[in-house]
Amino acid sequence: MLKVVVADITTLPVEAIVNAANEALLGGGGVDGAIHRAAGPRLLDACKQLGGCPTGQARITKGFDLPSKWVIHTVGPKWNDGRGKEPELLASCYTSSLNLARENRVRTIAFPGISTGIYGYPKQAAAQIAISVMRNYEDDFEQIICCCFGEEDKIIYRQAMGEP
Ligand code: ADP
Repeated sequence: MLKVVVADITTLPVEAIVNAANEALLGGGGVDGAIHRAAGPRLLDACKQLGGCPTGQARITKGFDLPSKWVIHTVGPKWNDGRGKEPELLASCYTSSLNLARENRVRTIAFPGISTGIYGYPKQAAAQIAISVMRNYEDDFEQIICCCFGEEDKIIYRQAMGEP
């Protein structure tokens, strides 16, 4: 089941949350900073072991002090003009994260809007990609949650899902 909620992703009682990380996987601003603060310093230690992650791919660590057992770190594309590989790379973030979750028998997972903050991806276009990939995985999970950081983002996701 796909679900849209407004929340701070670090508070959600799901088995895995997805982090909008950067290629170094050494923490950053936005949701990445919030996740590292909430998970505690052991998350950074675990990320250091991974040696980075290319754009469009995903890596998994434990959630440490978070309510969630796992954090899946994916690196979204920086929005340039959309004529590069941004859409394919963003879709790849969602498929890579969901594949990794499925391999680890995760049943409930929450995503922030990958690339839609500091990386500047237009939110409507990003939500369309997120929803279309998530729909392909709906049967493999109990819940796939789109975690919005404000009511405006919730409207964007609802529109992308074709709901009023
Ligand atoms: P990126 O660098 O991939 O753009 P950001 O962290 O800047 O990543 O933003 C990604 C999205 O996460 C944005 O839509 C932002 O509003 C949202 N966001 C930021 N903090 C949180 C949080 N604590 N919980 C959920 N979403 C968040």
